[in-house]
Amino acid sequence: MDGGVPDDFERMWSDLAPIGRSTTSGGYFRQPFTPPERELADWFREQAEARGLRLEADSTGNLVAWWDPAGGIVPDVSPRDTPDSHAERQGLSRQGGVLTGSHLDSVLDGGAYDGPLGVVSGLAAIDELRSRGSAPDRPIGVSVFVEEEGSRFGLACLGSRLATGTLAWDKARLLRDRDGVALEEVVEGGGTGLLDGVEAFVELHVEQGRDLVDRGAAIGVASEIWPHGRYRFDFTGEANHAGSTRMEDRHDPMLTYAMTALAANKRARVAAERATFGRVEVTPNGTNAVPSRVLAWLDARCSSENALAELVETVTRQATERAERDGTHVEVTAESVSGAVSFDPDLARRIAVDHESGDWPVIPTAAGHDAGILSAQGIPTAMLFVRNPTGVSHSPTEFAEMPDCLAGVHALAETLERLAT
Ligand SMILES: [Zn+2]
Repeated sequence: MDGGVPDDFERMWSDLAPIGRSTTSGGYFRQPFTPPERELADWFREQAEARGLRLEADSTGNLVAWWDPAGGIVPDVSPRDTPDSHAERQGLSRQGGVLTGSHLDSVLDGGAYDGPLGVVSGLAAIDELRSRGSAPDRPIGVSVFVEEEGSRFGLACLGSRLATGTLAWDKARLLRDRDGVALEEVVEGGGTGLLDGVEAFVELHVEQGRDLVDRGAAIGVASEIWPHGRYRFDFTGEANHAGSTRMEDRHDPMLTYAMTALAANKRARVAAERATFGRVEVTPNGTNAVPSRVLAWLDARCSSENALAELVETVTRQATERAERDGTHVEVTAESVSGAVSFDPDLARRIAVDHESGDWPVIPTAAGHDAGILSAQGIPTAMLFVRNPTGVSHSPTEFAEMPDCLAGVHALAETLERLAT
């Protein structure tokens, strides 16, 4: 394309900038299967078509655009395939494709980079390889996984869980969003096979921390993802009048919740782990009423699975003790728990060493990604991080400098070329 890869990248980036953006906060609302997120998927389809890439979709809405310079066989996937052609694909899968990509959905009021940076960089990396006449032996694909953030149906990495078969459609189809809409009402679902024949996956992502800033490096390689989970705390008490009810006569679940949030924060600080209550639903949610119920969600992430279990156990115990004192009740449900993911160490080493810019640092992350799901399913997987000057993510202020984004594209192109040649 005419202006070279930097222009190309900037053009794609400015295409995406207005889609799903709040005019008040400047943040993004790109929830899955809503108009902004569907517009992003259409944009991706157009980009694939403009490049002559072969687009494949599964019935959940996950997308892969394949570039196959050697004209080899790329697994053909359609949910309507017969069992025979599926078996045939399995045989062909030895041809091995190298996949990159990420997601286009966002958290509520999220940033521009988490997700889209990996998708746009994947397309730009193919542009770079083509512009310098590189012709890898194996196909290179750019993927878009739906509902990575779990911001609508509550389960993170929903698309990649379904695509890898980690989560069965029969179970997933009943997930409901905040308005009570079931997943099966917004998407057909049921088909898998999109990832057949994928031999390696590399996800590029904006860093969600300041590790690379501290190391003075634009690019890093992930070593592992911390285990993490989401837990629903259901605090119940007794609704009453905020004026006429004496303080000592109350059974206030908000109080129990507040003390639990403080306890979780303290515990995570002491143990250098992460605990966040970021979502609360209060009933009846009136200024002049003692609430009857507070639903609150704990997001917890720790350096080991034991540490995660201990943290949740401790917070649950403290919540229960506090509930006894407040005359309230608490019930805790684990909504999703993801174990530790160690990325393929050989792959990480292979990717991290011997660049013009020197070796890239290998660092852990406490954020979950589709890469973790693919890795857990036995696909050799790696992640590249692009420096984030403030370390802030899941917020409108999430940011990466343009030169670092372009360094990311170059790093990804180099990595894909190494793996596909
Ligand atoms: Zn992400």
